[in-house]
Amino acid sequence: MVVVQRTNKVAFACYPQEISEELRSHMPSFEIYLQTLISQALDNNFLMEIYEENDDYFVERVKVIDELAEQRKKKILEIVDWSDQFRSSLDTWPCVNVMITKNADMCQACTKNPASKLSQLYGQPYNQQTLRSREPLPAELDAKNFEVCDRCSNISQMYNKVSHQKYDYYSQCKSTVTNMRVTHPSKHTTTILRDLLANDHWIMGLFRSMCTTWIKVDRIYQDEMEYLKKTGNETENPEKIVIEMENLEKTDNETENLEKTDNTENLEKNANETENLEKTDKETT
Ligand SMILES: [Zn+2]
Repeated sequence: MVVVQRTNKVAFACYPQEISEELRSHMPSFEIYLQTLISQALDNNFLMEIYEENDDYFVERVKVIDELAEQRKKKILEIVDWSDQFRSSLDTWPCVNVMITKNADMCQACTKNPASKLSQLYGQPYNQQTLRSREPLPAELDAKNFEVCDRCSNISQMYNKVSHQKYDYYSQCKSTVTNMRVTHPSKHTTTILRDLLANDHWIMGLFRSMCTTWIKVDRIYQDEMEYLKKTGNETENPEKIVIEMENLEKTDNETENLEKTDNTENLEKNANETENLEKTDKETT
């Protein structure tokens, strides 16, 4: 009871202005989405089992958040003209590293502009539904490096981020769970889950970061659409994308700093607070 009241208070204080009512309304689904990811971090069979058993409580909420991310991916794909190979590689590999290239060949993603960057995809491929690691196919291993133009480089980094945000959050849950298990080997799985879910600040930070990425995509999509309408042709607006991407990176760093301060120590502090609250709760009842 006490814990729930605290959740509401923190949640209201943390919503930045630019997160729309519509996005905010998905917070309850996001909390269960995150609970699913923590549960998967605690038990590698969790996602597989909820889909096998068609467990509505989790499956439906995960679907809501997946769908919001999927809408952003579709928007990005509407403003680019990428080869299937490039898009599929972005979906397979969760990380991307960008370097400057001096080759003046054509962009391998859009084949319209000269390439200026080398986009190197890497990381651990995984099953999109169960988030379990999988071995890459030989064809996938052959499609990790692309010479791309500035525009495709910028937009593809955003696409990669949206595509793998769930896996990224799962990875964060996993390292937090590992840290907690190392510091408190006797802590029961249920206690770890409960402690993590009691950390409103951490949950809000992740929700805010996810919404921020989606809002950036929405903004770029809208700008591109308006630009196309104005110019009446299919000329792209590369400067705009570069500026937007710089802003995105800035916001990302800010979010990362926020997330960094929110380490296991805070989680544990939070857990102790929860225990104290529960104690007080028991005493009063
Ligand atoms: Zn390109």
